[in-house]
Amino acid sequence: METSKTFFKNTTIDNPKVLMEDIKQWLIHQEIISSKEQPLELEAPNTYYGGINYKNIIEEEGFYGKVEFVAKRTEIMHRVGWDWGVDFLLPDVVLCPQCKKDLIKGIDPATFYGENNLEQDPNGIRILQELRAGISLWESNEEVNITCYNCGVQNLIEEYDYNNSLIFTNFAIIFWNWPKLKPEFKNTLINKLGVDTTLFIDM
Ligand SMILES: [Zn+2]
Repeated sequence: METSKTFFKNTTIDNPKVLMEDIKQWLIHQEIISSKEQPLELEAPNTYYGGINYKNIIEEEGFYGKVEFVAKRTEIMHRVGWDWGVDFLLPDVVLCPQCKKDLIKGIDPATFYGENNLEQDPNGIRILQELRAGISLWESNEEVNITCYNCGVQNLIEEYDYNNSLIFTNFAIIFWNWPKLKPEFKNTLINKLGVDTTLFIDM
């Protein structure tokens, strides 16, 4: 089965472009990805197709997909969501780093996506509106603060805990629609990227 796999840094890092070039050259050198960037990917620069040795990193039969390098501030779930035609994904949780309350507890996803019409907690809705607007501001390098309605403390948007249902980073590698990757390859790549790297499997 083909799925997309995303390797991402858990925090924003210095010099994401340097790291990107390093990993890109490492993959090109082994001919896991082609040395030619796909010029037609206007929405997604730094996108490559598999190279002749792409089979070295996959665990099951299948063809390669695209590999996209992200080296600027991006909320990755939102980026992945483009592929699903959704511009803002409802996070699973929004936990305040101070009081640990889930600020969107009880928000009904069906109502959120307009398929249901239940009364919603206005505080939770306000947090979601701030998040939605905050993502694009954050991506254009603005500092975005959101105030917790429970404890009143203001925190940076990236300091809330979304349990990886929103991911604020400035470095990610997305294997779009690849077959299952070999565990050895995933481990090597995570080691190369550093301990603050997580692999997120998008089903
Ligand atoms: Zn709080």
